[in-house]
Amino acid sequence: MQEDESDLSGATPRRRPKKDVLEVGGRRLKPSTLMMGHGYDPALSEGSLKPPIFLTSTFVFENAAAGKRHFEGVTGKRPGGSEGLVYSRFNGPTQEILEDRLSIWEDAEEALTFSSGMSAIATLLLTFVQPGDVIVHSGPLYAATETLIARILGRFGVQWLDFPAGAERSEIEAVLARAKGMGRVPLIYLESPANPTNALVDVEAVAAARDALFGEQRPPIAIDNTFLGPLWSKPLEHGADLSIYSLTKYAGGHSDLVAGGVVGAKALVDPIRMMRNTIGTITDPNTAWMLLRSLETLELRMSRAGENAATVCEFLRHHAKVESVGYLGFLEGGADARQADIYRRHCTGAGSTFSLYLKGGEKEAFAFLDALRIAHLAVSLGGTETLASAPAAMTHLSVPDERKQALGITDNLVRISIGVEDPDDLIADFDQALAAV
Ligand SMILES: *Cc1c(COP(=O)(O)O)cnc(C)c1O
Repeated sequence: MQEDESDLSGATPRRRPKKDVLEVGGRRLKPSTLMMGHGYDPALSEGSLKPPIFLTSTFVFENAAAGKRHFEGVTGKRPGGSEGLVYSRFNGPTQEILEDRLSIWEDAEEALTFSSGMSAIATLLLTFVQPGDVIVHSGPLYAATETLIARILGRFGVQWLDFPAGAERSEIEAVLARAKGMGRVPLIYLESPANPTNALVDVEAVAAARDALFGEQRPPIAIDNTFLGPLWSKPLEHGADLSIYSLTKYAGGHSDLVAGGVVGAKALVDPIRMMRNTIGTITDPNTAWMLLRSLETLELRMSRAGENAATVCEFLRHHAKVESVGYLGFLEGGADARQADIYRRHCTGAGSTFSLYLKGGEKEAFAFLDALRIAHLAVSLGGTETLASAPAAMTHLSVPDERKQALGITDNLVRISIGVEDPDDLIADFDQALAAV
């Protein structure tokens, strides 16, 4: 929120409320507490308890010198972003409060919010990538991200190499070395857990491989943290430089908005902000306000959904019509020691999105989906309501058969995102839907 800017010589790059409470009695406040007030001073908005939605395209400058100074920040002439509010393609009070709060969860220096997860990813890539570069990424990635890297950036002479999500450090290092021989590596792009396989990436191993191969010019590591973040996975703690979100999913959490976010160190976030200023991919004030509402219950919602998923998966894994359940909570003591090890080091919870493999094929998967009465048949995830879909026939329909097979996207796969309903009601629904198969 805007504070007194009479001292225009001051180098404070971001506006903060005068009385922001970050600790009480020497105790550093937890994110779930800070979501109620951090970054906002009611006294600056007529005492309104909640931040207003500032519906304006532009902001009035105090004087001409202030306008000049603000534009120096917007255009990057002076690093650190604008000290003042300028124009709603660059910044806005509602968005800035949201960004202050989003950065809290991963203890990041800075956060930016975007009009969608994909516009966050596109803005990030446009910031760092040049023709001739070789992007190294984990695979698989969210389908639109793969399209953006391979097909769209490919049109501009950008190449890519990938390694499988669960790769060991030596394999990652070999791919990085090959990429280095082909051109400049502008960034390393990860997604963990990968969609739709739930395969985890060893971020520590990626960082170690990167550090061993690159000297001063180390490419940043960016990671799509949509599935477990920001509650159960904090990749900045494990060596990632930028954490990316589709805020449409768990952060928004009510299936009623589309937005994206990037959090990380200021030195990396600032150039992304410049690109966002230029191309206008900032989130709108109304969506930013909805996200402020959502972040207040983020921990509550994700905790409940996580507990529900554990209960439901325990039921499903023992059902006669179920072949297997791909749920991160079953990694411990499972067959894949490598994935279990990454899980132990990188995750504090199993999330609430998992893969259900039914005995049979498309016929059985469709019968199950059509019989559900509480869970809705829809793509997306992370909302308060339980959703189910068939990736092979829906989100991953256009993926070639061979690759589908390699990724385990079989016709009997049902993807489920568990919500915050009563868990026994959900079990009753899955039970009757399985009976209809
Ligand atoms: C949904 C999703 C995206 C894209 O986000 P949008 O908000 O739909 O643009 C990117 N990555 C992952 C992992 C996602 O689930």
